[in-house]
Amino acid sequence: MKSIDLKDILYKVEKPARYIGNEINSAKKNLDEVNVRFGFAFPDVYEVGMSHLGMHILYHILNAEKDVYCERIFAPWVDMEEEMRKNNVPLFTLETHSPVKELDFFSFTLQYELSYTNILNMIELGNVPIRSKDRTEEDPFVVAGGPCAYNPEPLAEVIDFFMLGEGEEQIVQVMNLYKEWKKQGKSRNEFLEMVCEIKGIYVPSFYDVKYNEDNTIKSFEPKKDSYPRRITKAIVDDLDSVNYPDSVMVPNIDIVHNRAMVEIFRGCIRGCRFCQAGVIYRPVRERSLEKVEKIAEDLLKSSGFEELSLASLSTSDYSKIEDLVNILVGKYSGERIGLSLPSLRLDKFPIEVIEEIQKVRKTGLTFAPEAGTQRLRDVINKGITEEDLTKTVKEAFELGWTTVKLYFMIGLPTETYEDLDGIADLANKVVDIYYSIPKEKRGRGLKVTVSTSCFVPKPFTPFQWYEQDYRDEFIEKQNYLKSKLKNRNIKYNYHESKTSFLEAVVARGDRRVGETIIKAWELGCTFDGWGEKFKYDKWLEALESTNVDPHFYANRKREYTEVLPWDFVNVGVTKDFLQRENERALSEKITPNCRMSCAACGITDDFIGGDCKCVR
Ligand code: SF4
Repeated sequence: MKSIDLKDILYKVEKPARYIGNEINSAKKNLDEVNVRFGFAFPDVYEVGMSHLGMHILYHILNAEKDVYCERIFAPWVDMEEEMRKNNVPLFTLETHSPVKELDFFSFTLQYELSYTNILNMIELGNVPIRSKDRTEEDPFVVAGGPCAYNPEPLAEVIDFFMLGEGEEQIVQVMNLYKEWKKQGKSRNEFLEMVCEIKGIYVPSFYDVKYNEDNTIKSFEPKKDSYPRRITKAIVDDLDSVNYPDSVMVPNIDIVHNRAMVEIFRGCIRGCRFCQAGVIYRPVRERSLEKVEKIAEDLLKSSGFEELSLASLSTSDYSKIEDLVNILVGKYSGERIGLSLPSLRLDKFPIEVIEEIQKVRKTGLTFAPEAGTQRLRDVINKGITEEDLTKTVKEAFELGWTTVKLYFMIGLPTETYEDLDGIADLANKVVDIYYSIPKEKRGRGLKVTVSTSCFVPKPFTPFQWYEQDYRDEFIEKQNYLKSKLKNRNIKYNYHESKTSFLEAVVARGDRRVGETIIKAWELGCTFDGWGEKFKYDKWLEALESTNVDPHFYANRKREYTEVLPWDFVNVGVTKDFLQRENERALSEKITPNCRMSCAACGITDDFIGGDCKCVR
């Protein structure tokens, strides 16, 4: 293997450190002693990919296997891509600067739908055929996992096989099988036949899809009886017993989340009805306090990071969160190591503890009520009350905080303009609370930021059957809010509806949308998630030329009886439960969180054979 020489191009590009590798704690192996070469590809730039916890976990697990070498691959930024194309430099791995074509696996993580054109671009830059049917024994297996893979169909033509669910144990099984297959000298197709027997593995080319005249799906059938009819996600039973990184790579440049990260638990006890993560990561499994403490110690020691992040979907729901925070603050605040608790529900957390956490670095307070009225918050099952929020805000202002961020979604099912008024009222109330505190007792310079995103109905949520608002409805609602949020202390930000529209098309897309994605990439679309790079007109052109009506996917209400493209995936939570939750939403009924009472979501039956341990 001859490694690619970058010296003639690196000096011409912005942030060359993105492409160098060799970071502290990155894996270094002798290629002669390696049996399987795995490329973990993140379809975005280095700074984004290096911030992704899942990559660090799987990188560590794979490299813990003596004869497996996992290397990283990131999307080159446009300037680097231009130089690579000019100089005939193929896409390469960071560790050894090898062309990706030399790998055994070229594996993508699907974190957001708008990264799909980058995946195609990376495959082509690696001189690997875009469509799986065109690949030969000379090519790596192109695989994909991650949250968006739960609806794999838009990439069915591109990906050789998907790995659905949690990868820690599954990926090692795939590696072992691969070694076995290699020894036997069997064909590429024979490997696919073997690998589809592993839990969570989906080989799209083994299935046929037929459509009705109205364009809905008629049937989804395996081509052979031996292929699984349903693909059941893989999960790990016990987080304490799976391997977790004991050291963390220290990036060469500043990245989005430049800190040590410990995942404290997986899953979520809340059942927010718009949230896909809350369903696909069920059931809740916690890491023990001792284990979290030990991991934190190892990571900080090995990296020298000055910030430790406790990662999860809803950090304050960790059953021993106060104990954990007290231990970590006691242990590290003297060393000026800051603690960051993303996804903390501030309304449920004593402000004194937040104050303790923020002693090192005081940031703003963030709340995500998601909807402006209690009625709509009940529809989406967001258990935040106005009282929770105003009480915490008042205490925070009294302790000197002056920056508050409020996140909402517009276009939620059943939303009316009264709910939008509720957003403005809530923001104005926050301002009033600040001014109700005597001048000498409050900090100076109040800043309230209201941000709205556009609701995107996602697979595996109780709202998966809903139509998304049309773009002009979103724009009208955004303008309405603009007119209502005039207070000089309030800043209003909103998310572009064009990208949310496209996200809705792809998120609930089927195989036919795959052709549009390929066409969009051929027309020059990449980095669609990066505002200034998003080429909406090219996407519209791609939709038209592939004869795909985007409104069929984004703005159409589905019947419960319709076959959905992702119905063959078993995430444990049943379709019955999702339907029940949707009905409860329509009657504005909340469902208590899993610790208060079990709502029989179905996860217990197939996955853990009994108690899901969420209810305490
Ligand atoms: S089985 Fe019950 S408690 Fe467990 S995740 Fe499902 S709804 Fe929650």
